[in-house]
Amino acid sequence: MAARVLDGAAIATEIRAELAPRVAEFERRAGRQPGLSIVLVGDKADSQIYVSSKLKSAADEGINARLSHLAADASLDQILALVDKLNRDPTTDGILVQSPLPDRLGPAAMQQVFDLIDPSKDVDGFTPVNVGRLSQNRADLVPCTPAGIVELLKRTGIAIAGKHAVVIGRSDIVGKPVSMLLLHRNATVTICHSRTADLPAVAATGDILVAAVGRPGFVRKPFVRPGATVIDVGINRVTDEAAAKELLGAKRFESFLKRGSAVVGDVHPEVSEVAGAITPVPGGVGPLTVAMLMSNTLRAAELRVK
Ligand code: NAD
Repeated sequence: MAARVLDGAAIATEIRAELAPRVAEFERRAGRQPGLSIVLVGDKADSQIYVSSKLKSAADEGINARLSHLAADASLDQILALVDKLNRDPTTDGILVQSPLPDRLGPAAMQQVFDLIDPSKDVDGFTPVNVGRLSQNRADLVPCTPAGIVELLKRTGIAIAGKHAVVIGRSDIVGKPVSMLLLHRNATVTICHSRTADLPAVAATGDILVAAVGRPGFVRKPFVRPGATVIDVGINRVTDEAAAKELLGAKRFESFLKRGSAVVGDVHPEVSEVAGAITPVPGGVGPLTVAMLMSNTLRAAELRVK
């Protein structure tokens, strides 16, 4: 039997609808809309698409989102000066610096940015203070994608407590924080990564399997315990026709042929034959990430005017 499809887009709509009365109440008390400042450096096409979708969602929610767009050759000092200005801006409740920064700034640049963002405005939840609070289970601002995954499990009635959750990926933005959140909800958590021995066998012990690897169609049937819940976090752009044919349904493959690229997850379509429930890509975790960003912005605004 094909797996139950967990409709992340529908749940994101539900979450955003719940924010509306709180946004109105904030505006009544503060005399202004919650404010989100987004910093984009350069012209990377995917980053521009993500930023547009965040700006649109904010506008729909009554959140005043402003974009500061720096040129691709901006220096790290310029970026840090802008963050410093936003830290001090009273109408900015949330600051989001779109990643990745240009490669030429080096691997430590993003961390330097997070070291500077005021933790009370850190709507990504990536500053050292908020990462520490998350590990102590007392964070106000939790990373958006991991928070979205937990909301999805909660709202689709999938039990976490007492279950074995296997997370593939140990990044600071998905793998580690989602492992922490699942642990705080009393799952037994195993974190796998590129050096895990016999990964399919370990993954197949999970009642919940979270794939955050960044490799198209990486998770195959042998990785999945029959009946398990599979959360596909991957957002991978494929341009290779053979890969697209393997990973896309007939209709999406037709659109791939017209456009020359398509977005796929980390989970191979064959997994639907064994999983109990699965998130689609697109329309699974992605929309929840944006909804949780709006939720974090409102939460940061509420805490600041308290
Ligand atoms: P990352 O590259 O920082 O981390 C990938 C992780 O996968 C690493 O920890 C690595 O150890 C592990 N890995 C790599 N190769 C592996 C292998 N062969 N076997 C086992 N583990 C392996 O990536 P990330 O930032 O965590 O993102 C992961 C994916 O999630 C990407 O496709 C990204 O685009 C997507 N993503 C989606 C959302 C969303 O809103 N849906 C948000 C963030 C990231």
